[in-house]
Amino acid sequence: MKKKPIIAIDGPAGAGKSTIAKMVAKELHFVYIDTGAMYRGLTWKALEEHLNLHDAEQLAELAQRTQMVFKSKRDGSVRIFVDGKDVSNRIRSERVSLHTNEIAKVKGVRKVLNQMQKDMGKKGGVVMEGRDIGTRIFPKAEYKFYLDASPIQRAQRRYLELKAKGKRVNLEKIAHALAQRDYKDKTRGISPLRQASDAIVIDSTHLSLAQVAQSILDAVRRGK
Ligand code: C5P
Repeated sequence: MKKKPIIAIDGPAGAGKSTIAKMVAKELHFVYIDTGAMYRGLTWKALEEHLNLHDAEQLAELAQRTQMVFKSKRDGSVRIFVDGKDVSNRIRSERVSLHTNEIAKVKGVRKVLNQMQKDMGKKGGVVMEGRDIGTRIFPKAEYKFYLDASPIQRAQRRYLELKAKGKRVNLEKIAHALAQRDYKDKTRGISPLRQASDAIVIDSTHLSLAQVAQSILDAVRRGK
């Protein structure tokens, strides 16, 4: 049987990657893998253990002794388990969001997580989203998409998302945090966020997330 393709989706925070990747995976009956959740999961554990987030060696060692698994629930949601514990909600805290890119820039951490991600996707039939999927994890993925949207649109989406979850939020603060996070992700020395030269770029500023998901599905179904 022919191997199912790998669909790589990269882009900055708040571009709608998660929602879109989930829609595409559901429609194609593919596995959805949120690599950001893995960096967040490790950050959550580092904070729990009160590790020094500037100690690259300790963080690399942490990555090596951490087990991360995704499990699909009956309701279609995908949960992340760190060492057997469901941390899906905890990894979305402001504290974890704030510190994740410190951990994501550590070479030893990326080495371990990159290998886990390659193992998770190697059989194909996956939609994997992150920052370096098309450039580094699966540079030969059959389909690569780079999602973007204007900074204000991305901040607004994140604002509505958090508000819908009942959180008290401030649009300006969110916009500032997103801008900082993007800057750090784009300028770090290792695996920075950038468009793969062969990625299809989709600017979703004036599109609904459902429209973006549909255009990805159309591209996959027509074979590009
Ligand atoms: O996707 P999400 O916004 O949850 O990712 C959180 C952080 O994890 C990003 O800001 C980035 O620093 C890091 N990340 C990464 N490489 C990936 C996915 C996420 O460096 N493939």
